[in-house]
Amino acid sequence: MPDLSRPGEKTIFKINSATKSGSKPGLVYSKNTPEGCAYCLAPRKEGQPPLPLCLGCRSVRFCNKEHQVAFWPEHKSYCKQQIKNQEAIARINATSSLTKSGFPSVQERKLIVEDWVELHRLSLIKACASALHTAEKPFDWNNQHVLFVLSYRKDSDGNPSTAFELDDAYINENPPVGTNSRAGFDSISELLDNPSRRSRDAEDPNYIGIVPCLFHFDREYGWITGQPCYKRDLNLSKNHDYWVQELKFLVMHGLIYRVRGRIADGPVWHPGFVEKKDNKWVWEEKSLESLKAKGINVSAIVRG
Ligand SMILES: [Zn+2]
Ligand SMILES: [Zn+2]
Repeated sequence: MPDLSRPGEKTIFKINSATKSGSKPGLVYSKNTPEGCAYCLAPRKEGQPPLPLCLGCRSVRFCNKEHQVAFWPEHKSYCKQQIKNQEAIARINATSSLTKSGFPSVQERKLIVEDWVELHRLSLIKACASALHTAEKPFDWNNQHVLFVLSYRKDSDGNPSTAFELDDAYINENPPVGTNSRAGFDSISELLDNPSRRSRDAEDPNYIGIVPCLFHFDREYGWITGQPCYKRDLNLSKNHDYWVQELKFLVMHGLIYRVRGRIADGPVWHPGFVEKKDNKWVWEEKSLESLKAKGINVSAIVRG
């Protein structure tokens, strides 16, 4: 995951070099693919080239062949699911009326969704925590997810922060066991159950869990991922409609929070916009006063 505390970091996908050499035509991968080794969790070394990708799914990296082989039993079902997803997405794109009418391909839109989610991460985490809190029944971790219904905005002009509008968001039941779409949820729950990840987060008394999220766009395709949730993100006084409206508002304006400092209670997240500078989309902090002048009343957020 890119370090969002570093302002200006791009989160834009790029065409896989394998596409250029022609070995896997049409395949693109996300720049948001974790840079460290999926097996030993070693980070990418400063100044070194990126670690090699899994040649199957192209969504995880490994130090070397040994670590790939050692991780295979744990990675196998996720990898196979990813390959299936990539094949399914290519089939959907082949008949997509939106693609034919000039939208980016379904593959590209899926990667823009990944960027969009990465950029709006804080707002989405707070929305997920509030969804859990305002639900009528306790959240069923094995059979439910939070569904975000998105529509691509052609007028976003390539800006990943405003690429989608949020039509709706609510807690939804997973598809029935045995169906293709259920397999996606099962493979991610295995991934999120990764023991190394669990023990790291379990040390944090604030930790609630990783909420499965489905980002369904243009009624064409859904990308499943997990958002870690913490008690500090609960909006205790807010009801369901309130947090959905608030999320819609932030998303519509492309308002992105990033860490810009720290006080005793924790990191302070400041609001800003993603703007084009020298052909790159970069994050620019905006003062609360300048936002207020545009009718956007928000505050900096401390996450203790
Ligand atoms: Zn490794
Ligand atoms: Zn793989």
